[in-house]
Amino acid sequence: MPVMESLSIALSTIGAASQFAKGIMDTKVDAAVAEKVMELRNLVADAQTQLLAAQSEQSGVLAKLEALEKENARLKAWGVEKERYALVSLAEGTHVHRLKVSAQNGEPIHDLCPKCYADSEKGMLTYAGLKDGHKHFVCSRCKQSYLGQYVAACADIDYQPRGRMRGF
Ligand SMILES: [Zn+2]
Repeated sequence: MPVMESLSIALSTIGAASQFAKGIMDTKVDAAVAEKVMELRNLVADAQTQLLAAQSEQSGVLAKLEALEKENARLKAWGVEKERYALVSLAEGTHVHRLKVSAQNGEPIHDLCPKCYADSEKGMLTYAGLKDGHKHFVCSRCKQSYLGQYVAACADIDYQPRGRMRGF
């Protein structure tokens, strides 16, 4: 029987025991019996409190388990996805993960942010114009900035992901 169902049944049983003890109190009993029934009711109330806490804790554990299962599935999918990319040099000292031509599946060649990649996340780099004479790329996910090739002398060149540049 699932733990949550067991806890629910135990709570219901304890509630019935509490009502039973109250029923005894409502009948004419001597003081000694009334005192023992009162002790019993206090014990039942303590048990109810403990069961409610256990039920709440169990709910939290189930929610965490569900989140971990989702994360596990995501990481498994990422394990397959990340193999579609190869580490390439964007510029001296700047490396990114680029979609392999053999793994395109109809997608255009694009680059992924190495920081997000290391975090098992897919952050695409988008061209954001020139910065200090370098091609400038920004991660769509973490907003990390990357400087690419130095092209100050050709400031009006559009970025071409495969390395081709207009004007040459
Ligand atoms: Zn990123």
